[in-house]
Amino acid sequence: THFGFETVSESEKAERVYKVFENVAKRYDVMNDAMSLGIHRLWKDALLYKMNPMPGTKLLDVAGGTGDIAFRFIDYVRSQQERRSRQEMKSYQSPSWQDISKLYQQQDDNDTHLRSKAVICDINKEMLKFGRQKAEQLNYTDGLSWVVGNAEELPFDDDKFDVYTIAFGIRNVTHIDQVLQEAYRVLKPGGRFLCLEFSRVQNPIISRLYDLYSFQVIPVLGEVIAADWKSYQYLVESIHRFPEQEEFRAMIEDAGFYKVEYSNLTSGIVAIHSGFKF
Ligand code: SAM
Repeated sequence: THFGFETVSESEKAERVYKVFENVAKRYDVMNDAMSLGIHRLWKDALLYKMNPMPGTKLLDVAGGTGDIAFRFIDYVRSQQERRSRQEMKSYQSPSWQDISKLYQQQDDNDTHLRSKAVICDINKEMLKFGRQKAEQLNYTDGLSWVVGNAEELPFDDDKFDVYTIAFGIRNVTHIDQVLQEAYRVLKPGGRFLCLEFSRVQNPIISRLYDLYSFQVIPVLGEVIAADWKSYQYLVESIHRFPEQEEFRAMIEDAGFYKVEYSNLTSGIVAIHSGFKF
């Protein structure tokens, strides 16, 4: 397994990845905005748009320490619920007493069955700590839980979640195949896997510029903003080592998912892969 320019063992890689995210946790959001010129926000929005979760959805966001996906999930579901209530208000007519008691019953059902939940799981305690702090500052308290866990060996029962997401996380793990098998295991039958990850740029000119930017500019930004050249050099290299679109699609199929597809964003700088559990 490669790490930086050297060859290291698997356990060493996991340890070093842990250190990288421990080091960058505090500056993670600032760096993310600086490196992607804020575009990572649009990519994450696109993931939610693709997911299009219904009220009541149970989401597991793996490698989700920043909370970025879970917060968007809560916003998305809330906006769907508000839209539905507006539509109901439009078709409102004076109710009878029977209607009122039915409405109360429905409200109870909504509260118990339709409450959406997101579990955020990350191997790194520091990343989770900063995610939780952000959740408190931004007032995302309801429906979220934070769990320390390894994507390769998830601390959850089988068939538990409707949707599994992993955003910019899977390229950091030691065994991608194990992560995919675990995703399959914890999803309910019919559940959906969604992965947002750096991929291969499709346009040769953009590809050339992108290589220059990532190898020449990003480690410098890492040094200037976070005084940490090495961590950012690792991040760039991990992007270049990650399988390209078709290869990753085949890996997801090998884990048992069906209807596996992907869409490229920003000329393939990143891609969203998705699939369903039988
Ligand atoms: N998903 C977040 C986002 O998009 O803002 C965070 C992405 S960050 C680049 C990668 C995250 O993967 C880090 O928080 C890191 O701790 C986590 N990670 C790395 N290896 C992991 C593993 N084996 N299991 C769970 N999380 C892992």
